[in-house]
Amino acid sequence: MLKKAGIIVAAAVLIGLIFLCQAGGTLLKKGFAEEKETSSRVDGRDTYLVMIDPGHGGLDAGKVGVNGEEEKNINLKISLKIKKLLKQQEVEVIMTRTEDERLAESQVEDLKARTALMNKEKPDLVVSIHQNSYHDETVSGAQVFYYTDSAQSERAAGLIQAAFEEIDPENTKSAKGNSTYYILKKTEVPVVITECGFLSNYKEAEKLADEEYQQKIAEAVVKGIMQYLEGDEGKQN
Ligand SMILES: [Zn+2]
Repeated sequence: MLKKAGIIVAAAVLIGLIFLCQAGGTLLKKGFAEEKETSSRVDGRDTYLVMIDPGHGGLDAGKVGVNGEEEKNINLKISLKIKKLLKQQEVEVIMTRTEDERLAESQVEDLKARTALMNKEKPDLVVSIHQNSYHDETVSGAQVFYYTDSAQSERAAGLIQAAFEEIDPENTKSAKGNSTYYILKKTEVPVVITECGFLSNYKEAEKLADEEYQQKIAEAVVKGIMQYLEGDEGKQN
């Protein structure tokens, strides 16, 4: 019994010493220079946390395609594929919705609820999934929007946009800055809005409704996310 207690005390002393050494090391480093952040992970998490936000839902269908496909359903399908792929990379994922539902009664309240969730969970990155529409039906191609005032948001958008161009070389769109979209403006963590394609373009609307193409889109988004999380700039701040 006494011997056992002795071992426990010795172990406790050893652990204490290790902590002291680490603390001493940190203090020493701080003495020379401001300690540099080595990870984008906040709140002491040991895994990356990404929030996926499938736009619209419930009463709010979002854009309706020329083929009758509703944006909210495509958003959710692509988002669930992204979630699955990120989990395979051992990234933690939170979804703003996993069902065909809105987070509040009105569209404005819904956006507020989504933004509140983003600010509460403080993920490393938020990717909001949407589909585009335009009066000119010849316009097509995925495009990622970032918050103009956030270098991190811009970097994430650039990486996802580059991955989109790999799956569709005809897509010549560039990531675009925006300072007025509610979610971009009100979210305190890096956030991008991914418009996966145009539901107003018949060819693209058909592709976006196709499971295989949704998977390709999801893979491109995840490629960009992983590059963002693991890249040098992604690890700062
Ligand atoms: Zn939308």
